[in-house]
Amino acid sequence: PPVISVSSLVKRYRMGDSEVTALDGISLDIAAGEYVAIMGPSGSGKSTLMNVLGCLDKPDAGIYRLADADVAGLDDDALSAVRNRDIGFVFQGFHLQARRSAEENVALPLRYANIDKNEAQKRAREMLERVGLGHRLHHRPNELSGGQRQRVAIARALINQPKVIFADEPTGNLDSRTSEEIMNLFDELNGQGQTLVLVTHEDDIARRAARIIRMRDGRIQEDRRA
Ligand code: ADP
Ligand code: ADP
Repeated sequence: PPVISVSSLVKRYRMGDSEVTALDGISLDIAAGEYVAIMGPSGSGKSTLMNVLGCLDKPDAGIYRLADADVAGLDDDALSAVRNRDIGFVFQGFHLQARRSAEENVALPLRYANIDKNEAQKRAREMLERVGLGHRLHHRPNELSGGQRQRVAIARALINQPKVIFADEPTGNLDSRTSEEIMNLFDELNGQGQTLVLVTHEDDIARRAARIIRMRDGRIQEDRRA
């Protein structure tokens, strides 16, 4: 079965008397190991789709199966448990904790899962080595370059061995050379079997993915495999 399977997904936002249909019947399967880029103009529903697929938000209607489990009907606590176990996030703005070292930031998801401190530290180090930051374990975010901060965020996203990593404009804050390095890292991770879903408005970035989904007005306008 696919890792992600959604059918007729609908998400509306109510603002006073008016209502916006941000997702207007999205149906989509993503298989294990796929590398998918989601594109589309501002307001087309990309972030909403990522939030729903990433279990940050609930759809108003439709079916969502993640790793063959029904997640559309879960309450907030159950949804956050699924999110912590099965999903990794990478954001444009890194979202690292400023007072914690690289190693501590990466270990945090394991600490939340009540994994012993020494074990969490050991696994965080291994993960930072995997993303090329074994020499920056004790640096805080403000002592790292933008590209290095994003590597820390990627290591943190990977630490629970998630079924899917969602990346929302992951190179949006980086210069072109550093973006290239981060995209090379994503290629490498996907080559090792990591399922990736990336939201971007840049063609150069999207071209890295084997599949490009274009959204418009809350619908899938095009779904194309390279
Ligand atoms: P994109 O990521 O493609 O820019 P979004 O998913 O952010 O698109 O937005 C889709 C639509 O939903 C837009 O019309 C946007 O204004 C609306 N929207 C998004 N988030 C909210 C919210 N929290 N409250 C109200 N409307 C929202
Ligand atoms: P990059 O090699 O990614 O371009 P920079 O040129 O920004 O990184 O920084 C060079 C090195 O110096 C980096 O590896 C970074 O860890 C380190 N560094 C940068 N700023 C600081 C700082 N304020 N304190 C400690 N180390 C720093």
